Amino acid sequence: MKMENVLQPRAFRMTSQRRTILEELRNCRWHPTADEVYERVRRKLPRISLGTVYRNLEVLALQGTIRKLDICGRQKRFDADPRMHCHVRCLECGAMDDLPLGDSTLSRAIGEIDASYEIREVRLEFLGLCPKCKAPERACRDRDTRRGHSGGVGRPDT
Ligand SMILES: [Zn+2]
Ligand SMILES: [Zn+2]
Repeated sequence: MKMENVLQPRAFRMTSQRRTILEELRNCRWHPTADEVYERVRRKLPRISLGTVYRNLEVLALQGTIRKLDICGRQKRFDADPRMHCHVRCLECGAMDDLPLGDSTLSRAIGEIDASYEIREVRLEFLGLCPKCKAPERACRDRDTRRGHSGGVGRPDT
């Protein structure tokens, strides 16, 4: 038994783990789940547990360093970008992209609400097909053909 290992300050170890977790999250632009962050962190810190990764993600979210997204899907996802922004999610593959608010109507609306409320977070998610899933493929055409049998019922022709 090496005494150095036993006496290693816990706080320091947590900090270096947390830094690695944060680095890995920042390398994932697709808003990964805790499991996905864990899979990546494990390659660098093979002895880390999922619980440790999850706890550190929670702490980072509480600190405001990252964001915890709990509006989409069954599993919570984490976002390395703590700034206020919205998301667009693909219904086919689950890919999730950032939607910066910029000077949009939405950001102006938030500005108006801000007069009476202090807005800290926006939970708005757009759902659709990502460029990859939207791409014209045989599968898509098949789907459209099938849809042709039932589609259009009760819908006025334009
Ligand atoms: Zn997709
Ligand atoms: Zn995001």
